[in-house]
Amino acid sequence: MKPEIHPNYDIVTVNCACGSKFQTRSTRTVEEVSVDICSACHPFYTGKQRLVDTAGRIDRFRKKFNLPSA
Ligand SMILES: [Zn+2]
Repeated sequence: MKPEIHPNYDIVTVNCACGSKFQTRSTRTVEEVSVDICSACHPFYTGKQRLVDTAGRIDRFRKKFNLPSA
């Protein structure tokens, strides 16, 4: 990687409540951030109107897509 291209932007690891992890660039100085929703469990992709906010809901999501319970 070439350093100093965007010195104010650091790669951060995003941990979603659904268990998904992905990396993005952020101006934040933290290395990790936690979110309740991501592209893998966003209502737009799941077709659900409710946010992912309960363990049961998340378990069903994982079983539906055969995801390991991280
Ligand atoms: Zn998610």
